Amino acid sequence: MPICTRYLMLTFVKMLDIGLDRLIDLALRDQLTPVTIWTAVRGGWRYVGALATGDEAPADIVTERMKICLRCPARDESDTYKPTVGAVYCGTGQPIDSQPTCGCLVAIRINGTPYPAGKSLVASESCPRQAWLSVGHRAQPERV
Ligand code: SF4
Repeated sequence: MPICTRYLMLTFVKMLDIGLDRLIDLALRDQLTPVTIWTAVRGGWRYVGALATGDEAPADIVTERMKICLRCPARDESDTYKPTVGAVYCGTGQPIDSQPTCGCLVAIRINGTPYPAGKSLVASESCPRQAWLSVGHRAQPERV
């Protein structure tokens, strides 16, 4: 089944007004865009406030971060309540191979196609292993 036929275009400010419960309802009805449906995935809502205040990384940085995370051995890929949507987390928050993870949502997959999500979009966030840094510092070469 196609994931969606009528995507709603919502700003992060509008999402704050709508609230998490309504976003989950919209996600279940296939009415969120591929680039915003992560807000209704476990661990996503915590970043909406930061993005609503403009703490959003440029698109090229976001894409670079996502690519690094998708290659990272610490990533933890999980199913979500939507069969077409998978979630990618930075581990579980516990160290892996003696290196830290934060357990944060970093990407989603929709029918297998990856999209940036959560922490990766927030300019002031950074990788717990310094594989990518907050904006203001160009993302560094992969070290993980
Ligand atoms: S350790 Fe860094 S690169 Fe690896 S999944 Fe976490 S945030 Fe992404």
